[in-house]
Amino acid sequence: MPHVFSTELRSYGNTLRVHGLSTGTLALKDKVMNCTRPGNLRTLLSFVDKQWADFMPVWTWVIEHPEGTFLIDTGNTVTMTEPDHYRGQDFLSRHYFTKEMRFRIEREEEVDHLLEAVGLSANSVDRIVLTHLHSDHTGGLGHFPGTPVIVSDHEWETKDSAFPRLWPEATQFDPVALDGSFGPFPRARYLTEAEDLILVETPGHTRGHCSVLLKTDDGLICFAGDLVYDQERLFKNSFSATIQNEADNRESCRRLLRLADEQPVIFLSSHDAGNAERLNRRLALK
Ligand SMILES: [Zn+2]
Repeated sequence: MPHVFSTELRSYGNTLRVHGLSTGTLALKDKVMNCTRPGNLRTLLSFVDKQWADFMPVWTWVIEHPEGTFLIDTGNTVTMTEPDHYRGQDFLSRHYFTKEMRFRIEREEEVDHLLEAVGLSANSVDRIVLTHLHSDHTGGLGHFPGTPVIVSDHEWETKDSAFPRLWPEATQFDPVALDGSFGPFPRARYLTEAEDLILVETPGHTRGHCSVLLKTDDGLICFAGDLVYDQERLFKNSFSATIQNEADNRESCRRLLRLADEQPVIFLSSHDAGNAERLNRRLALK
């Protein structure tokens, strides 16, 4: 699979360039990926499982917009694969991230190099938007000292399974209130003056998890974060064990599908191997 792909979209008379950047891969235990009853107990039980699920990509997204260049999530880094990386964390987290997850990434697959592969650089990014604070989404923050990092107020308050001690000191977090609504989503906020880039709360994977919607002339692009790990799971209502609230997660998926009933929505989640094909061929949810 290529590490990057790019496409052009029309929005309100503007041409936007969107790039998908794949920052290495990760794998979880099979019983974490495929479980009928998500929750912490399932995650603990999976520790004895010897079977690994397939490696999944770890996507980040760039939107070159007239109001600036936005980066959605920052992906994995090589340091995250080093055994000492989680040394300062509690025993369970240390165990989980070193023994219950597998990461594969080379230095040139980190987001700063991938930005260069599409003709940009870390300096070209004006704003970062995080769907949530898990380490495979915050890993690359160190490449962007001083760049404002937008994160929802709920996610910032709750920080479910996040490791604040690993965040670089120079990171400029900018927690924002989701004080509006958008379609079926009761908590939302416009990120651009043009009101074409919208942060919507899609809780479940974490209590403050968000997705990002981009309005185009042909419908919406949904950068879904970890709402579900791939599109098939959205239709099957299938979740991994590692979610914070199953009922909320189901409701978030229902809301997105309701939106997709009203207009075309192209669904891009952070760990979906089918993203490039769907975006290039403009395959909307049906
Ligand atoms: Zn993730």
